[in-house]
Amino acid sequence: MTPLVDYHCHLDLYPDFEQLITDCETNHIFTLAVTTTPKAWPRNHQLISNRQFVRAALGLHPQLVADRANEISLWKEYLPSTRYVGEIGLDAGPKFYHSFELQKEVFKEILQSCSSSGDKILSIHSVRSASVVLDMIEKYLNISKNKVVLHWFTGSNSELKRAIDLGCYFSINAEMSKSIRSQELIPKIPRQLILTETDGPFTTVNQEPARPRHITKTIDLLSRLIKFPIADLADKIHSNMQTLES
Ligand code: MN
Repeated sequence: MTPLVDYHCHLDLYPDFEQLITDCETNHIFTLAVTTTPKAWPRNHQLISNRQFVRAALGLHPQLVADRANEISLWKEYLPSTRYVGEIGLDAGPKFYHSFELQKEVFKEILQSCSSSGDKILSIHSVRSASVVLDMIEKYLNISKNKVVLHWFTGSNSELKRAIDLGCYFSINAEMSKSIRSQELIPKIPRQLILTETDGPFTTVNQEPARPRHITKTIDLLSRLIKFPIADLADKIHSNMQTLES
């Protein structure tokens, strides 16, 4: 069975969180279980210990920073216990722009902490803020010691080029293929930097929250978009993930 990759899914937001972890293990779906607040960390960390396919990432979501910026100290306390960091980043969309300055402060602390420790893999949100996110990665993250995955990236062509030059990976979800902009952007990403994600439960399949097993749909859409043989795409994504994690 070819392993699949869901490199950004909020497993802890589903009512059957524990069962989902078991499903990912049984079905050989490498899953990055991102979290939105460090308060969720102990349970995530405990449930994925000794699992082969599921990794837990320590997050502080930019959309929660307005209320939870003070949890950065808790986030820092837990950082030594994981290699994976996310969901983190910036959101300059209309609903969250009011906290943008605070988001930048928190994101800066996160990037600097990762630089101090090294060997982290970061899953980064960059809604309407790709340039600022890239500026901050350049300024505060030691990219020779850490690796970046831009999740649901919707930047411009020039922002894409900058991100590629920085060695960023891109996790692509099925929802993105509905946007004309993304349909043009995704084929420009070098094949070796592409990963797949569901971003469940924030995306849906047949009106239900997407689950890691729905990554097959992403593979299908992606293979048509980038004109890559579907029979080889899951292997390619898996090998990209292995390179990222090596
Ligand atoms: Mn997310």
